[in-house]
Amino acid sequence: MTTTTTETTPDTLPGTAPAEPMIPVIVPSEHPNEAPRLTPVEVVPGRALYRQVLPGVMQVPADLVLAAARKSSLWPMTFGLACCAIEMIATYMAHYDLDRFGIVPWPSPRQSDVMIVAGTVTKKMAPAVKLLYEQMPNPKWVISMGACATNGGPYTRYDRVLQGVDKIVPVDVYVPGCPPRPEALIDSFIALQELIMEERGTTGR
Ligand code: SF4
Repeated sequence: MTTTTTETTPDTLPGTAPAEPMIPVIVPSEHPNEAPRLTPVEVVPGRALYRQVLPGVMQVPADLVLAAARKSSLWPMTFGLACCAIEMIATYMAHYDLDRFGIVPWPSPRQSDVMIVAGTVTKKMAPAVKLLYEQMPNPKWVISMGACATNGGPYTRYDRVLQGVDKIVPVDVYVPGCPPRPEALIDSFIALQELIMEERGTTGR
């Protein structure tokens, strides 16, 4: 088998020490087209080596990848408190196709990362809502859906109604309306996704 020898001499940048001579590459004569690929790349100071070896590779921070994964796989916990829950259920139906956002309704707090408070929060129900929130793993987010969950809504002067769910759990997105339409809830999911990308680098609460 005959071989050909390919040797390249790197340029020397001004002010830098002369580079070590390249190692000659032995290329089988039957594969001459492999010579450029088998030739060691020239190391340019100040430039990442992998950019020369793999020029098509995109470099992004790890927290950006994690945030993108989180925002694209939101699992809202399925529970409702009053009439707003009907609109929430309608949003989960096939007509609105939440799967395209990676949103999957999940019937357990143990694996959910979004709590949608849909309906009137009575003071009797408040401890259960707080317990569900505490059972969710971090990072987690809360959407307050409708006027009742936000500030008591039509029951703003009722002593037995909590005047805003943010008195017991931290709320990330408020959805106005009585009740909000499914499009409004979808909009709140998109707002939450933008929020997750903004607060990337943190680990949630
Ligand atoms: S905001 Fe309106 S629709 Fe929603 S739970 Fe309260 S009263 Fe019902």
